[in-house]
Amino acid sequence: MIQLRNVTKEYRTDGTAVAALRSVTLHVAEGEFVALVGPSGSGKSTLLTILGVMNPPTAGDVIVDGIDVYDLSLERQADFRHEYVGFVFQQLQLVPYLTALENVLLPLAVARLSRREKVQRATEILARVGLAGKERRLPGQLSGGEQGRVAVARALVNQPPLLLADEPTGNLDSATGAQVLALFRELHRQGQTIIMVTHNPETAAFANRLIHIRDGQVISESRVISAKTGHNGKAPAQLTRGLSPARRGYSDDLLASRRSISRPMTA
Ligand code: ADP
Repeated sequence: MIQLRNVTKEYRTDGTAVAALRSVTLHVAEGEFVALVGPSGSGKSTLLTILGVMNPPTAGDVIVDGIDVYDLSLERQADFRHEYVGFVFQQLQLVPYLTALENVLLPLAVARLSRREKVQRATEILARVGLAGKERRLPGQLSGGEQGRVAVARALVNQPPLLLADEPTGNLDSATGAQVLALFRELHRQGQTIIMVTHNPETAAFANRLIHIRDGQVISESRVISAKTGHNGKAPAQLTRGLSPARRGYSDDLLASRRSISRPMTA
């Protein structure tokens, strides 16, 4: 699904270069729940934003379902990000004066759906994360764990094949953090691909593969065989079907646009 080949990232500030990533090569398969683990400053967030098509690498390739994503025009990169990736940030970034439902509706603003379809989809995803009946509450009227669930629902409402999370439990107490991680585990069981950044080994233990980062390099990888993941290695067909860009014809579209081929519309 995702391949990074010799990805290097240097940040330049005031003429000094910081090497955030040094020749990182890794592969994430569809349906995996991966934790990028390492100390602060090791390059985890940089790696996550590069995976999320938000931060072009200085060198190397990022291939997603066969598409070299940083080869696309900036406009196509934005389309790709919108279609393909959902983000959950440490600061959950809910809009405080919008209800749970309205927060979840935000990513659908540009979707070609009727208002009714949008509300239906947002309501369904809120139910899926366990918030049925709480759609009209403001974030301040929800617990920390419930706010985390709204943030996850908002990340998933576009049905992105890839969910990225940066320290998703960083601002939550351990009980509410565990609720969000339990939700990730459940989504993973249902076939969702998840890549999560954390410096916390207990958080990382919810994933089924750990990629250890130090000083901008992958130093080791390990698989978690744990009751926590409960992963049976199989994704239910109904949840993965049609989600990957290749399967929804999106990659064909992107490839066609890259090659400036105009393809006839087929029914
Ligand atoms: P982590 O997520 O593991 O804490 P980061 O990817 O945030 O690590 O940072 C890796 C290195 O890159 C650090 O030395 C950090 O200071 C530097 N860095 C990150 N973002 C920027 C930026 N936008 N400009 C300059 N340096 C940055």
